[in-house]
Amino acid sequence: MAKGQKGRKMYQLLNLFSNIPNINDYNWYGGAPHKSLWKRMFSLYPINLAKNGSLMLLNYDLLLKLWEKNLLTSIFYKKHNKLYLCKDDQLVTNSSIDQIQLLTHARLTTSPREVVQIKVHTLGGTPVYSKITYGKNNSVDCIKGLMQKIQTIIHHTKTQGQNIVEIQINHTHPSLDFIANEGDNLKFILNGLGKQDCITGAQLCQFIDYPLTISAITPGQLTYSKTWS
Ligand SMILES: [Zn+2]
Repeated sequence: MAKGQKGRKMYQLLNLFSNIPNINDYNWYGGAPHKSLWKRMFSLYPINLAKNGSLMLLNYDLLLKLWEKNLLTSIFYKKHNKLYLCKDDQLVTNSSIDQIQLLTHARLTTSPREVVQIKVHTLGGTPVYSKITYGKNNSVDCIKGLMQKIQTIIHHTKTQGQNIVEIQINHTHPSLDFIANEGDNLKFILNGLGKQDCITGAQLCQFIDYPLTISAITPGQLTYSKTWS
């Protein structure tokens, strides 16, 4: 890289980081998150937060408590006793043990990254997993690459004599889910499936003979899922 380009790159980086508020300027109920996640989130998405506000990281138990207090009704709904995000009808759950295990590969405390693993649910109950793919950006993977991986693992599962009931693409969203208390206003910053995740699901399901679920797993061990069948 030429010297001038290097300088420009550094200037862009400095510009980027100057938009990141200081994590210590906020009052964190229950403790502050890792700075690496805070920085990554603000470098990817524009988030409008009042200065010196009170913030609290979200987990599933807290969501349920807020639901009981009628504080979630404009953003979430319940169906068959399950919690859904209104945006794109995403099922919200506690992360499962294998999803929490996947989070350990996402370098949450140093240099957060997206990681992807395909899980094949079988009739016998024992799942089959693909190798973990390590991503750099914030999209699950290119559709062509994912399709190849899914075909490979379907073939592998069938040759083991197992019947497939569902394909699930687990991937990490290494950002933060939290609530901001801004006076009378409770603001939710959520980290669920994005537009590209939903486009990927809608396109991939056309080529797969089984229900397809895409799940985003966040550091608060919240999982957002959507199924195409
Ligand atoms: Zn995603």
